[in-house]
Amino acid sequence: MSKLPNVGTNIFTVISGLAQSHGAINLGQGFPDYPMDEALMDLVTKAMYDGYNQYMPMDGYLPLREAIAQKVHQLYGTQIHPDQNITITPGGTYAIYTAITSCIGPGDEVILFEPAYDSYIPNIEINGGKAVCIPMQYPDYTINWEAVRAAITPRTKMIMINSPHNPTGKVFTNTDMAELSAIALQANLLVLSDEVYEHLIYDGLQHQSVLRYPELAARAFVCFSLGKVYNCTGWKIGYCIAPQALTAEFQKVHQFNCFATNSPLQVALASHLSVPETYMGLATALQQKRDLLRALMADTPLRPIPSHGSYFELYSYQGISDLGERPMAEKLIANAGVAVIPTSAFYHNGTDNKVLRFCFAKKTATLEAAVERLQTFFKASPSIV
Ligand code: GLN
Repeated sequence: MSKLPNVGTNIFTVISGLAQSHGAINLGQGFPDYPMDEALMDLVTKAMYDGYNQYMPMDGYLPLREAIAQKVHQLYGTQIHPDQNITITPGGTYAIYTAITSCIGPGDEVILFEPAYDSYIPNIEINGGKAVCIPMQYPDYTINWEAVRAAITPRTKMIMINSPHNPTGKVFTNTDMAELSAIALQANLLVLSDEVYEHLIYDGLQHQSVLRYPELAARAFVCFSLGKVYNCTGWKIGYCIAPQALTAEFQKVHQFNCFATNSPLQVALASHLSVPETYMGLATALQQKRDLLRALMADTPLRPIPSHGSYFELYSYQGISDLGERPMAEKLIANAGVAVIPTSAFYHNGTDNKVLRFCFAKKTATLEAAVERLQTFFKASPSIV
């Protein structure tokens, strides 16, 4: 008997495994291949030598929670209390799982938008909840708020959003947030906002954090990732911000899962995060990478669906091949030597628009080498079957 009968190995593990076995350049899984800041590594080493090697408080190291509260105030104008509203977690994905587990039970319905990060639906289902999936409208992935209204039932308990969005790079507008507010208030919904890409936002857009909207923040779990901020996704460290009552429920689950998050990382991040310069340049740097990938890809037959945030940009191969996304991705790994993610992996029903997700958080040399391989492949095989 499986608690998740429809779940196999997740797409990132599968594609990274295939990339490795074929020696392909990995533009699949979302992680940078360039080094992180050595100053932050030094701070971790120092923290270990300073003796921060035992358990931290269950909710996290107080100076880190204070630094987060200060950052949130500066960026979003919201006052949060380090002792009541923040829990430090082993990563953003863990924070999302914990938030869902703390309040979703059998029969509860959770509205989410597809394509969706692959952990959302299993997180809901393992708790006995029902995922109610609303497709974002291809090809620009706008949200049909009327469809959201129509999906509300007396069992709807939560709505999940993700901006900047993985895998599309869509960024919610303030109109989206106004629609969300109206619906969440009217139907008395909890909100789970996945904001792990908060600083990876381009084209002069402003991140519409739920924390900017007091009426939403009062009913929301907001999940963040420090690995995404400091180019260290393998550190697995993030946090969840929520009102006091929701934080209490969150911590009831968290305390019996990992209990507390890695100590030396928290000490190091407390001082690093209190310097805004350590994260404010991220958007410019990553926008340059997105633009470089887009410029290089212009010499291939693949066409971008413009991303405005996150590590990712989607590329369409419509008109080039009748292959589905998964076989196409496998072919590119095996025959072109480049790994990308089939977007169908982010739909419960495998919706296939012939669109692949590219991660551009890579060194210039990596992006150039990958696209050169793609150019060679497409020149040699103008029609791919
Ligand atoms: N968030 C990253 C992505 O979307 C990877 C997360 C993971 O490997 N589970 O690629």
